[in-house]
Amino acid sequence: MEVNKGHLHPITILTDRIAQIFTDMGFDVADGPEMETEWNNFDALNVPRNHPSRDMQDTFWLKKEKEQDRLGRPMGFVLRTHTSSIQIREMEKWAHLTDEDKKAQPLALIVPGKVFRNEATDATHEAQFHQVEGLLVGEGVSLANLKAVLEAFFSKLFERDTTIRMRSSFFPFVEPGVEFDMQCFKCGGTGCNVCKQTGWIEIGGAGMVHPNVLNNCGINNRNYQGFAFGCGMDRLAMLKWGIDDIRFLYNGDLRVVSQF
Ligand SMILES: [Zn+2]
Repeated sequence: MEVNKGHLHPITILTDRIAQIFTDMGFDVADGPEMETEWNNFDALNVPRNHPSRDMQDTFWLKKEKEQDRLGRPMGFVLRTHTSSIQIREMEKWAHLTDEDKKAQPLALIVPGKVFRNEATDATHEAQFHQVEGLLVGEGVSLANLKAVLEAFFSKLFERDTTIRMRSSFFPFVEPGVEFDMQCFKCGGTGCNVCKQTGWIEIGGAGMVHPNVLNNCGINNRNYQGFAFGCGMDRLAMLKWGIDDIRFLYNGDLRVVSQF
């Protein structure tokens, strides 16, 4: 009798691979709660109280009794809309180190995990999906360091030397902010169906950690700088394995999952 053996889900395989690549580069893997305070998810990240992303359409607010944030304002709870809330928790811990220790051990971590947005599902959107974010805070950190780390990461993940290009963009928690593209891993930049003949694939957002965010975490923003980046892991899985509908990753169909 043939027995069906269980095995890892593609997102788990991808999470393990990403963690391996980053730990080889000296990064830690951080984890934390999926239920977050409004402070960690928004305020500390320099997302103002009137910002549209806090709207009910994008955020799952939880019916938990409000508490007070550190400024004495009422503070609600949300299902985290990004894993950046864990970066806040980790930066607050790092802020307590002495300057000597901070210089000896820059804060280098990635946060892979589930995030939640209150939106309709289709071929490229799910209400629950996976992100990986990275953070490096220390002395003299620059966008050049970010580019080098991203190029090393994507070259290893897609098993082909690749370059990254950045385009100016805006996110409240970084300044300057960029969106970044990876040179197409399939055609190498000459143009194919994966990159829609452009030679480039849009991957995610990044930038230098906004001085307000460092300040909110108790880090002296004159002495230390940081970069942060984030991208959707479901999208990376879809690119890596040629999956064209995100729902295949979540509908529990063993015919799909057993291909990995
Ligand atoms: Zn291509």
